[in-house]
Amino acid sequence: MNAAPDTLTLALSKGRILDDTLPVLAAAGIEPEEDPDTSRKLVFATNKPGLRLLVIRASDVPTFVTHGAADVGVAGKDVLIEHGGADLYEPVDLGIARCRLMTAGLPGAIEAAAHRPLRVATKYVETTRAHFARLGRQVEIIKLYGSMELAPIVGLADVIVDLVDTGNTLYANGLEPFDLIEDISARLVVNKAAQKMKHAQIEELVTLFANGSGRTA
Ligand code: AMP
Repeated sequence: MNAAPDTLTLALSKGRILDDTLPVLAAAGIEPEEDPDTSRKLVFATNKPGLRLLVIRASDVPTFVTHGAADVGVAGKDVLIEHGGADLYEPVDLGIARCRLMTAGLPGAIEAAAHRPLRVATKYVETTRAHFARLGRQVEIIKLYGSMELAPIVGLADVIVDLVDTGNTLYANGLEPFDLIEDISARLVVNKAAQKMKHAQIEELVTLFANGSGRTA
């Protein structure tokens, strides 16, 4: 469904980020035509003329915005680091969906693997590779798509790299947090061509988000 040339398309990440983003939009008087939490739609018109929303998987937001399928997006810093992100503008730290990207495992897991490559389960393959390369630690990375916490319990990996908020998921599974890799929050990202072609509309949205929740970077 191609949009009219003057339509601004905003891609939102499903899940925790969506739950934190909709109130920011609502505070600015922007409401989707249907509730994205209950609707099966993927594209939502809004009550703001010329603004539509895409509600997509978090890890796909940078791809949609980089290719111009969306002009603007809201994505977690974890996803942006993993994606590379150099081909996007990142004007606002929204300060929402805060958490930490950490290594974690069973107590003593790192010491137990001191004399062999550390087996690390994660969906953040590139970020994990870069983190352990900085430390000069040899790793074997095991790509998972979810339930990372299970990997150390069943002996699939020594440690995991995953998002930690309260730590309850780790503790409930007998794991403990080890090292902080990055403090994470959701960011507004902008397609570079759209920034030029739809400057006024994008500035309006950036200001709205900057005032509503975050701060201009
Ligand atoms: P917690 O038990 O509060 O530490 O939350 C950890 C679980 O929630 C893990 O499965 C994480 O992948 C997920 N999680 C935590 N924070 C976020 C976030 N900001 N965005 C998406 N997933 C998150």
